[in-house]
Amino acid sequence: MPATMPTLTLRGPGDVALIDKPVPEPGPGEVLLAVEATTICGTDLRIISGEKTSGVRPGATLGHEVAGRIAALGEGVGESAGGAELKVGRQATVSIVVSCGCCRACLSDREQLCSRLELVGYSIDGGLAPYLLVPARAVARGNVIASPDELPANRLALSEPLSCVLNGHHGHGGVNPGETVVVIGGGPIGLLHTELGLACGAARVILCDKHESRREVARGLGAVGVGPDELAGTVEELTGGWGADVVVVAIGRTELAETSLDLAAPGGRVSWFAGFPKGSQSQLTPNTVHYQELTVSGGSNARRADVHTAVRMLAGGVIDETPIVTHTFGLSQWREAIDAVRSHLGIKIAIDPTR
Ligand SMILES: [Zn+2]
Ligand SMILES: [Zn+2]
Repeated sequence: MPATMPTLTLRGPGDVALIDKPVPEPGPGEVLLAVEATTICGTDLRIISGEKTSGVRPGATLGHEVAGRIAALGEGVGESAGGAELKVGRQATVSIVVSCGCCRACLSDREQLCSRLELVGYSIDGGLAPYLLVPARAVARGNVIASPDELPANRLALSEPLSCVLNGHHGHGGVNPGETVVVIGGGPIGLLHTELGLACGAARVILCDKHESRREVARGLGAVGVGPDELAGTVEELTGGWGADVVVVAIGRTELAETSLDLAAPGGRVSWFAGFPKGSQSQLTPNTVHYQELTVSGGSNARRADVHTAVRMLAGGVIDETPIVTHTFGLSQWREAIDAVRSHLGIKIAIDPTR
């Protein structure tokens, strides 16, 4: 093992660079993962541009969608029941939500809203580096999650975004067989909602995106791909005027708050899954919710249980990563990788820190 490693580190708001740090040695209770792939998400872009600063520690290594392999175990790991699966050489991912376990949110099955929450890739060093050290308190909480089978690293890395999608899915009550789902936004998150909805037996998923290339990807997954101008008409036509049972907003545009309510069927569920711009406000027609008896839910982040579910779904081949993770770059090419995300080249970009 080399003594130092390059890490994509946040030096200050909007200031990111490849910085050498020592390769960590796992102390008691800690786990060292060798990173095989880390995919980049919109939040990384907002951190890198300086738009997002809360919860991000200057000096932290970025990267929170991580597929790795256990490289070394600190003393005592594996002796507890929860650590039995942790063996050197095993593929694993990390649930990035490091929660306290005893606040009111943690005790009510919402650890992702923990009042003492810390996130890997935000305040704890993340996966845009060849190695990631999982702190003992996270290992003890079961945040290192081994994969049941050998998976392509780019697939296992999707366990983080998929876990968030699963959390949003629980929030809106899930998709029942035969229902119509509308997904607004054809980025990686929208496409994961699409795959999940179809896996749950939705009669149809209608995905709306302004880019034909993304509508085409959605059609390849079995969805109906439409542009913004055709959305309302298509929902009306395909549901006989009833509306969509589930509407997922997977793009953070404020006006979609109202649009999503209008698309929902009586008794429908609306998920505002995407984060909206900071401070944004919206004018809504509250009677749409009242008379149509709609349920509106949010979703941000995920529980460890959602990561477990995500890993099982990815291992079982329920979710196909190949249309979603379209490009892989080496860590030294991080600027190109970020530009590729910004310019919408492909859908999702992975970084392989071993090259
Ligand atoms: Zn993310
Ligand atoms: Zn807590």
